[in-house]
Amino acid sequence: MRIDVVTIFPEMFAAIRESGMTRRALAGGQFELCVWNPRQYSGDNYRRVDDRPYGGGPGMVMMAEPLAGALDAARQAAGGRVIYLTPQGRPLTQSVVGRLALEPALVLLAGRYEGVDERLIETEVDEELSIGDYVLSGGELPAMVLVEALVRCLPGVLGNEESAQDDSFSGGLLDWPQYTRPEQFAGHEVPAVLLGGNHGAIRRWRLKQALGRTWLRRPDLLAGRELNDEEQELLESFKNEQKEMENSR
Ligand code: SAM
Repeated sequence: MRIDVVTIFPEMFAAIRESGMTRRALAGGQFELCVWNPRQYSGDNYRRVDDRPYGGGPGMVMMAEPLAGALDAARQAAGGRVIYLTPQGRPLTQSVVGRLALEPALVLLAGRYEGVDERLIETEVDEELSIGDYVLSGGELPAMVLVEALVRCLPGVLGNEESAQDDSFSGGLLDWPQYTRPEQFAGHEVPAVLLGGNHGAIRRWRLKQALGRTWLRRPDLLAGRELNDEEQELLESFKNEQKEMENSR
């Protein structure tokens, strides 16, 4: 997959070029990252990319022309749908990530200031995505969030040990609790079933915890999911245990 990013802060993307899973995926050729600075497409001697808003008011607005120039260059180099990261976009979810990870190329647009000229969105942008109901000063971190979420879905990026298939949201549930050595920490023990080596029992325990956690923390996820007989039974058992724990307090 190729990802092009239009940003006035290209240096911020060193964070994903130089560290962790995204660095490995770049080195392994599973994805390519190119960054385009709209300042290079500004007609202005001072390379300005922002101006005052029509109608007055505080702040500055990113001008359409330098952004359109950078987007054109990115599209000519690689093609790809243009995604504007904005708090006004559709929420970024794992299913959106899964859909976008199938694209061969994407162009991400990171805004700054009060945002970008609306006409640029109307004429150049295919999709608008938000990483949450809060406002950041720029779209670079949201773009990096999207890149990291996309890259871990690409074939060959995560080894078996890190497989994404059991992660939260992949199967419509939150992940089960994880434990590693030592067996005792601060007076708390690892659940005995995980030490017993009975793979069937471990699978059922994990499924039960995943269902229970989702019910406790994100009931909205369960509302949109049909449970099979085993899942219903495990969730009932989790709820009963929960009630018993509450009664014994
Ligand atoms: N005035 C805009 C509004 O209220 O919708 C906010 C502009 S924000 C200060 C500047 C840039 O940060 C936006 O153009 C966008 O690219 C990015 N941004 C901020 N919060 C974001 C979020 N939650 N998701 C995605 N992008 C965001």
